[in-house]
Amino acid sequence: MWDLGVIPDRDVDAQPQGARASLNAAIDAVVTRTLSSQLAQIGYRPADITYFAFSHAHIDHSANANEFAASTWLARPAERAFMWADNNTRVNPSFYSELKNSKSVVTIDKDEYDVFGDRRVVIKSAPGHTPGHQALVLKLAATGLVMLSGDLYHYPQERTLRRAPPDNEADVRQSAASRAMIEEYLQKTKTKLWIEHDFAANAKLKKSPAYYE
Ligand SMILES: [Zn+2]
Repeated sequence: MWDLGVIPDRDVDAQPQGARASLNAAIDAVVTRTLSSQLAQIGYRPADITYFAFSHAHIDHSANANEFAASTWLARPAERAFMWADNNTRVNPSFYSELKNSKSVVTIDKDEYDVFGDRRVVIKSAPGHTPGHQALVLKLAATGLVMLSGDLYHYPQERTLRRAPPDNEADVRQSAASRAMIEEYLQKTKTKLWIEHDFAANAKLKKSPAYYE
C-alpha cells in the first residue's frame, strides 16, 4: 500500500456528498470514496496488507495510517523524526498515532529499497518536500516503468517550465537536488512520472477496481 488517503475514512463516511479538507490557502481536497471501500472492492481489508509506505507524512498522504498499524511499515528515520517533531503544523499525528510504537517497521537507510527483491516495487529517496520524502517506482508487465511522485511536484508545469520548488518545502535546496536527480533517473531508465497531485492527469487514470497491468 502506497500513501494512505487524503481524509480519514470515518470523515468521508460521515459526508455522503464527499468530505472536504483544506490543503492550503488555494486548494481544497474532496474525497467521495473511502480507502477501505476501494480495498474491499478488490477483495482486501487493511489487515490483509503486508507492507505499506507513504511518500511523506503530510495530512493528505497519511489520513488512514492508523488502519495499517498491523502491517509492516517501510519508513525512513528522517520522516519518522519529522512526524513527531514538536510544533510541526504540516502533519496531524492523530492520523498515525498507532504507528508510534509499531513493532513491524523496516528502516530504509539507502537511496533505493527493493520491496520484494525483484525490482518490481522500489522505493526511492527524494527528500526536500519533507525530510524523508520518497517516491515509488513500479515495474508493470504491460504498462512498463512508472514512478508515483509523492509531492516531488504538484503540477506538470513545474517540470516543463523548470520552476524552483515552492518555499514551503521543508528544504528547498534539497528538494531542487532531488528533482534534478529524479529527472536524470527517469530519463535514464525510461520511467514515466505520475504526479499524484496532477488533477488533470489523475482524472484520466483508471480508478480502483480497475487497474494497470
Ligand atoms: Zn505534501
